[in-house]
Amino acid sequence: MTDPPRTANGTHPKQELERLARNLRLRLEGEGRAGLAAVGRIPETAPRATERAPRAPEPGAEAPGDARLEPLPEARAAEAAKRELDAAVAARAPAPPAEAPPAEAPPARQERAPAVHVKGPGLFDDSSPDLEDGISKEEALDRIVKEVAACRRCPELAAGRTNTVPGQGDPNAQLMFIGEGPGADEDLQGVAFVGRAGQLLTKMVAAIEMTRDEVFIANIVKCRPPGNRRPGPEECANCAPYLARQIEIIRPKVIVALGGTAAQYLLQTHDGITRLRGRFYPYMGAKLMPTFHPAYVLRNYVTDTRKKVYNDLKMARAELDA
Ligand code: URA
Repeated sequence: MTDPPRTANGTHPKQELERLARNLRLRLEGEGRAGLAAVGRIPETAPRATERAPRAPEPGAEAPGDARLEPLPEARAAEAAKRELDAAVAARAPAPPAEAPPAEAPPARQERAPAVHVKGPGLFDDSSPDLEDGISKEEALDRIVKEVAACRRCPELAAGRTNTVPGQGDPNAQLMFIGEGPGADEDLQGVAFVGRAGQLLTKMVAAIEMTRDEVFIANIVKCRPPGNRRPGPEECANCAPYLARQIEIIRPKVIVALGGTAAQYLLQTHDGITRLRGRFYPYMGAKLMPTFHPAYVLRNYVTDTRKKVYNDLKMARAELDA
């Protein structure tokens, strides 16, 4: 066997190739490290990949570590302080909500309040002129009863009536009901709300745990309009002073206006009862709640109507208890 050819420097070709490869690897490695260090990915002083990894520490022995990789003591202290702070903040922080809070509901559409002309609340600032001469409420109310009985302001009503119907009840009532005007039964007896509608009113009063004796029941007009027609504006205006004086004497906390005619006249509005009912209006020092007339409820004896009336009365009752 002949010897393989030698290189120029006399080394064996295989050895020469190995030397060149080693040099090349070292050069590339150097350039790569410089590049990574330039973009901050490795510390310039990090150990070379070719360096031997530190041996795992012996159990119980201090980790030898590489001083160049170990964080400085100040850095370690800062790191520990940060961990403590994070823990403290986490401990104080309120527990995260179990689920995302519900989106805020859009504000309910604000219904425009009916336009009403409310009669002066100042009427109750002074006591009723009817009580000025020191008479009792009963006497003052009786005086009005007599005046009404003699009244002929509305010729047609005066001519057609059997009895005047001034209204009746507790002179100290906290709750007052005001209807439209007497019907045939009321005209015959001279007592407000004694017919079919009146019987339902009695039940409505009982529904809020009261009796007719505890409330005062009256009407806008004190005489029956012929054929049970609605009282006209002039008739209402003629009769209104009697009612106003009754309210001034009784000074109820709450007035329930029964039906559109009563509510519209008292509040001086053209808005319908469906729109007016269900809320309070200030009226002569009282809170006025319009609701459906019992005669309307009898004609529309359905759950919805009855429920609405009941709710209105419950609000009135709650106001008395407040
Ligand atoms: N309807 C009213 O408005 N008033 C009454 O007194 C009776 C029926």
